[in-house]
Amino acid sequence: MRLNYEWEKTLIVSPHGDDAILGATEFITTDCDYRPTNVLIIADKYSDQKLDTLPLIDITRRIEEKIQEMVSDKSQLLILIPPHEDRNEDHRVVHRACLPAVRPYRHLYISTILEYSIIGSTMSEWRPNYFMNISKADIDLKEKLMLKNYPKEMGYPRDRKSLETFYRYWGLEVTPDYEFYEFVVPYKILFMKG
Ligand SMILES: [Zn+2]
Repeated sequence: MRLNYEWEKTLIVSPHGDDAILGATEFITTDCDYRPTNVLIIADKYSDQKLDTLPLIDITRRIEEKIQEMVSDKSQLLILIPPHEDRNEDHRVVHRACLPAVRPYRHLYISTILEYSIIGSTMSEWRPNYFMNISKADIDLKEKLMLKNYPKEMGYPRDRKSLETFYRYWGLEVTPDYEFYEFVVPYKILFMKG
């Protein structure tokens, strides 16, 4: 599958700050040069509170407000959300909160919805269907961003060796369908306008 629809702005819904950096760096670093990109970090506003103790509707409203703000000029959006097949309850809560938030905008202003994976947390039941190849330099950048912003989160399975192993695994997984790429980041297309 390929992303075949042009979008004008990117929104990454990130349960915690590090999730978007780990899972969707490609959309933060490459894309934002020519497309406005917003990362909405859900847990920031609630400090240490577990997200599953909050009413889901509160989180849904925050996401919906962000979408509303971004499409107020009728821009087409690409939205990245965490998958439901994840060991972390906060990630699952945010996934569930995203679904009703995107619904009203889906056919007018949302061109694509993608799920991104969170290393060490997303489960093997999750089946991606869209793959981006990355270079060693891209992994360097991911690592640098993580070390700078979330140094405490950087141990196993988020150390350099694990990151390379993870992206190499997906590189091997997609080889039959793609040209050979050493490092591949998996995504799952949930919705794409034809
Ligand atoms: Zn997280």
